[in-house]
Amino acid sequence: MDKSGPNAAGHNFLTFDIEDWYHANYEGVDLSAYRGRESNFRADVDLLLQCCSEAGCKATFFVLGQIGETYPDVVRAIAEAGHEIASHGYGHQLAYKQTYAEFRDDVKKSAEILQTLTGKRIFGYRAPSWSIIERNRHYLTALEELGLLYDASIFPVKTFLYGIPDAPTGIHHPCIDGRELAIYEVPMSVMRVCGSNFGFSGGFYFRLFPAWLIKRGIRSLNRQGRNALVYLHPREIDPTERRLPLPRLESFIQYYNVAGNRAKLADILRSFRFTSIAEQLSALRQETS
Ligand SMILES: [Zn+2]
Repeated sequence: MDKSGPNAAGHNFLTFDIEDWYHANYEGVDLSAYRGRESNFRADVDLLLQCCSEAGCKATFFVLGQIGETYPDVVRAIAEAGHEIASHGYGHQLAYKQTYAEFRDDVKKSAEILQTLTGKRIFGYRAPSWSIIERNRHYLTALEELGLLYDASIFPVKTFLYGIPDAPTGIHHPCIDGRELAIYEVPMSVMRVCGSNFGFSGGFYFRLFPAWLIKRGIRSLNRQGRNALVYLHPREIDPTERRLPLPRLESFIQYYNVAGNRAKLADILRSFRFTSIAEQLSALRQETS
């Protein structure tokens, strides 16, 4: 049962994590050698923008500070198309491998880069690879200190890579050391099956499951008055993008079923109403004030 949290049904959240083909975090895999190699990044972001414009919806683009430095024109183009630019940190480092001060500086640096580029305030943050977990959940206070409005870094599931399985599954104000923070937590959507939470509507799960199952999950959340959240990366709609030489399991997680994913996204976007997190939260704040 969620502790707090009015959930505003109506629009679902469409989000993209804007990073290059080599931004990944797998234990024991050194990806630094791939940095700077040419990729389909620009074309892939164009495709995402096209999907949004065809569906007539706005989205939240969680952008790395490093991407802002490398592709300033791309980030400006996203903002000029009316989408929300939010922070995905600076260089895609796992939050739980940073100290509190390093984490705070990383978010601050990225938000400043993105704010300068777009001339717009940055409201939200998503940690790379869902790296806000139980042991660094107090890092959320850094986001409050930096004046952000929301965090979208918590995946209420248990996996070998991430997750807080018993975290609230609805939008709420997180409670740290007995104090309710001013920021909102917008957790990743999950489906409850046999007493456990499962992801179904983003990244690997979005590629793994057929469209009918994803739609069923979104419909079920909406019936409960909840917003569903969808997330994808630019590389996930482009089967021709460069691929990292990953071990078998990691490669499966990273690349399974990329072909056909763009059509699946278009199908889901046609079937439900979507918007950015900032836009939906401002509607929510107006409703509850
Ligand atoms: Zn990422």
